[in-house]
Amino acid sequence: MTDSERSIDSPIHELRVIPRDVHGVSRKQMSPNALRVLYRLREGGYGAYLVGGAVRDLLIGGHPKDFDVATDATPEQVKALFRNCRLIGRRFRLAHVVYGREIIEVATFRANGGDDDGDRQTDDGGRLLRDNIYGTIEDDAVRRDFTANALYYAVEDFSVRDYVGGYADVEARLLRLIGEPEARYREDPVRMLRAARLAAKLGFTIEPATAEPIARLAPLLADASPARLFEETLKMFLAGHAVASFELLEAHGLLPVLLPETAKALASNSSGALRRMLLQGLRNTDKRVANDEPVSPAFLYAVLLWPAYCRTLAQLQAQGVHPAEAQRRAADRVTLHQVERVALPRRFSLPMQEIWLLQPRFSQRQRKRVFRLLAHPRFRAAFDFLELRLAASDSHAEDVAFWREAQQEPSAALAVAEAGDAAEAVDGEGDAPSPRRRRRRRRS
Ligand code: ATP
Ligand code: MG
Repeated sequence: MTDSERSIDSPIHELRVIPRDVHGVSRKQMSPNALRVLYRLREGGYGAYLVGGAVRDLLIGGHPKDFDVATDATPEQVKALFRNCRLIGRRFRLAHVVYGREIIEVATFRANGGDDDGDRQTDDGGRLLRDNIYGTIEDDAVRRDFTANALYYAVEDFSVRDYVGGYADVEARLLRLIGEPEARYREDPVRMLRAARLAAKLGFTIEPATAEPIARLAPLLADASPARLFEETLKMFLAGHAVASFELLEAHGLLPVLLPETAKALASNSSGALRRMLLQGLRNTDKRVANDEPVSPAFLYAVLLWPAYCRTLAQLQAQGVHPAEAQRRAADRVTLHQVERVALPRRFSLPMQEIWLLQPRFSQRQRKRVFRLLAHPRFRAAFDFLELRLAASDSHAEDVAFWREAQQEPSAALAVAEAGDAAEAVDGEGDAPSPRRRRRRRRS
């Protein structure tokens, strides 16, 4: 294509080459293995570039979590250069160069890739010719999502190459879709979530034309694969930017598509208690990630779906369902509804439900029950959840104090708190009718 053939809103800008002394990205910040791959490709006579999130993150002084390489070598040519290389993928083959636990992904320049999950066909009438898949570096740049994600670091002269205006956008901290935003979201609706996630992670502003269609097109996400939405949700909430991601999801109308029951519960909870609890849970998650402490999808989902659980439980109890039965049914119903949209493997949904179902057991103080609960494999997670409810609502203080002590000195804690209350009902922060608490009898 010549310049004169290009339409006025073509995403391709004049190639801008940003030299080493201007962009400030240094090889010292890069994975030595990624550099090995780049140099080997170059020695083999191929073009070799660091690309995507890594270049973007290095430009803003961040630490990339992986280093992707793009090249004009075909996957077979890449494989021939590296002993430690395996090819993956069927439709679009990628080369993985493996160094112990680090994998450098090497992708051949790709033309109009459509989406990135590899299982959706582009609209070329089923004629999937391999020749149509590979392209030039310009093709590869414009099929990417955001301009900030389409910068190429060239190992031959240490420059950054920019075909879409990404360098200026990174400098301005702007997240801008390449091409016509609505068309790009229709091509792959998950880009709407990526916009929220990356803006949260990078502290970038979503450029107005990129932000505008999101609330309108959000319902398209309902057709995305639940497995892919699950992966994307974990990236959004377990990478240290959960609060910011949540707020952006809300602001752009994405929450009702991703977590429909939770969105409904938050909207109908006039006191705001459920929202406070959820945000407190996400704040704790971010803190744990910042401190390199482990975080679990089960606990995260217990937090994200707690509003939905409380609301459903309140409805069942209002219908006169016995509390223990209502809890089980609410947990099942919320899980079933949620997995229609976002996959939640049973290895996470079962512990999530246990965390909920253990909550009312914290108000039971009979000796046998106390020891049984302390020995429960999910005790720790359920107790952390109880503490979270306390932090968010100032209730359950007595329960938290008792169980904190009971973990150290069960008998002493029991001696202080007498055998008492066996109230079965959960004390939801929602609009659930408060279960009546029997006062503990004090022996004088
Ligand atoms: P992170 O730092 O969270 O990994 P990332 O931008 O590197 O962010 P990846 O999912 O690792 O995100 O994707 C790598 C690159 O692939 C992106 O930078 C972008 O260029 C391209 N890409 C990813 N997903 C899409 C998509 N849905 N549509 C177009 N391009 C995409
Ligand atoms: Mg990445």
